Amino acid sequence: MSIPSDQLQIQSSQHTAADIASLYVVATPIGNLEDTSDRMRHTLASVSRIAAEDTRRTKQLLSHIGVNTPCFSLHEHNERQKIDFIVQCLERGESVALVSDAGTPLISDPGYPLVNQLRELGHSVIPIPGPCALIAALSVSGLPSDRFLFEGFLPSKSAARISYLQNLSKETATLIFYESSHRIKASIGDMMAVFGENRRVVIAREITKTFETVLNGNLSNLCEILEQDPNQAKGEFVVLVKGADKNVVELSDESRLLALKLIEYLPGKQAAKIVAELHGVKKNMVYQFLLDQNSE
Ligand code: SAM
Repeated sequence: MSIPSDQLQIQSSQHTAADIASLYVVATPIGNLEDTSDRMRHTLASVSRIAAEDTRRTKQLLSHIGVNTPCFSLHEHNERQKIDFIVQCLERGESVALVSDAGTPLISDPGYPLVNQLRELGHSVIPIPGPCALIAALSVSGLPSDRFLFEGFLPSKSAARISYLQNLSKETATLIFYESSHRIKASIGDMMAVFGENRRVVIAREITKTFETVLNGNLSNLCEILEQDPNQAKGEFVVLVKGADKNVVELSDESRLLALKLIEYLPGKQAAKIVAELHGVKKNMVYQFLLDQNSE
């Protein structure tokens, strides 16, 4: 949908708090307090107020960086009420910063209704970029990073989680999820049930913190590791799953099953030829599918 040109709002990124009252959406560390930036510190020091998901946590960060700007709470249960207050601040010419407990606000964190409303009202909203768990995890995962689908937290109940995952089983982009220590084992188990034992997965745990660990393997390997070592199920997690193989998506279940059965008795090329003849599909696609099964 194109926006009529008289409704387009153009915002210059050269503005500072001194020029125009703005909402600054400020990313904060996801564990390691050394991941603060000068611009983050300067912005938090120069706004008139900070909207914080948990004011106690934010005050710890502020005291670490030597900033004493007043904070007020903005979390998922009071965000709608706080929007009017922030609009009034901006209209009085006072800039406000938005922070969450960790990482980038709005990413599985509060802030979307606020930013959406401020954009509609034509206020200036400026990002102060920084840490974000999903991007940090993706950057070290070794999984394809050209296309990815961030799904946030999966449903907490297993039946709902399985049906959610089933809808993603043919997605070819890298899948990224957030997960907590309460559910990591159950979620990885459900992923194995839906995506199969061989699908490649990376679990990035406690990024930037003392027990930072990146586990890389297939769903069956990592399920086993989580079972055997309870320490691996502690902390905060980003789970990244390799997208479905294009050949798997394009071949029917019957063609894939037949190919997998034939490969137990025949060389790959012969198995692919038979499936291609019987099911009217491309021989190369079946052959590539068989190669990919071996390489996962
Ligand atoms: N806004 C945050 C961001 O930019 O990443 C995410 C907030 S969300 C409420 C919290 C979840 O992010 C955690 O349950 C975990 O899945 C993930 N997460 C946050 N910090 C992490 C870390 N240091 N290591 C691994 N995962 C982390």
